[in-house]
Amino acid sequence: MEKKNIDWSSLGFGYHKTDYRFVANYTNGAWDEGALITDDMITMSECAGVLQYAQTVFEGLKAYTTEDGRIVTFRPDLNGERLESSAARLEIPVFPKERFVDAVTRLVKANEAYVPPYGSGATLYIRPFMFGINPVIGVKPADDYQFRIFCTPVGPYFKGGAKPITIRISDVDRAAPHGTGDIKAGLNYAMSIHNIMDAHRKGFDENLYLDPQTRTKIEETGGANIIFISKDQKTLVTPKSNSILPSITRRSLLYVAEHYLGMKAEEREIYLDEVKDFAEAGLCGTAAVISPVGKIVDHGKEICFPSGMDEMGPVTKKLYDTLTGIQMGRIEAPQGWIHPIC
Ligand SMILES: *Cc1c(COP(=O)(O)O)cnc(C)c1O
Repeated sequence: MEKKNIDWSSLGFGYHKTDYRFVANYTNGAWDEGALITDDMITMSECAGVLQYAQTVFEGLKAYTTEDGRIVTFRPDLNGERLESSAARLEIPVFPKERFVDAVTRLVKANEAYVPPYGSGATLYIRPFMFGINPVIGVKPADDYQFRIFCTPVGPYFKGGAKPITIRISDVDRAAPHGTGDIKAGLNYAMSIHNIMDAHRKGFDENLYLDPQTRTKIEETGGANIIFISKDQKTLVTPKSNSILPSITRRSLLYVAEHYLGMKAEEREIYLDEVKDFAEAGLCGTAAVISPVGKIVDHGKEICFPSGMDEMGPVTKKLYDTLTGIQMGRIEAPQGWIHPIC
């Protein structure tokens, strides 16, 4: 397979059109077979449900080349499962997870020439999404939907290695206690855009959201879950809440901490007050795997982690190296984590 003539090392995290996308349509109460197509444009009514009432959910995962030259994806069954629950919550007809994994597999295979080579730091980012496509003006679910997956080669999330970031405690809330914080829906992101721009203008990299009900507990940032490492380096602690997105990276890190690094892994409520007692912190998600957090600013009060602002903390680094080692085929993976494409 001849690769496309792309300078993999200079790719950023942006959209770069590839040859194929997978599209399935839901009409007359059923999903059609779906197909790989070349047309990257979507034509729909100006009154489409997605445009009027944001009836859309999405996923994000990656394909990459392992050390021994295979192309694989990481736990796509969990993305399929999560998309099922996101869709159900917005009254979008479920696209079965088995079909999801099959569609991802076919899409990546068709776009094999765009999968970055091992060692380039680049990956193929895969974006599945589904949305209401027919006209909807009274508030109700659409009748017709499209499920689409495109992919785009992306560069390493952090060029020149992961530098610790500074995040601020947000005054704005992300998701209500019994709201939609636990599904991957564009509506959760729309509200975050103004707040992230405001954070950037004030010199912060990200917003850390608190639980809206009591504003005393840590939730997550706009697009990543958060993990903490205890002072004795023996425990990974991560917030438990119904209003955070169940990150596949975070769930994998809990497993890695326990089963590969001999640590304890705790999911529990974490109070803002106790954050100063942790040794390290990191944001986790598919895009960056882990971004180390050096500092949390709570309205002028700085919480500086002992790991500092120069490099990842030692335990975070071990977690990062182990999980990326598993993903890249350098370390043996737990059963079912690596999904071979070709
Ligand atoms: C996608 C997402 C994450 C990260 O989830 P992964 O499955 O690890 O990629 C975390 N928080 C939010 C709000 C997200 O949308």
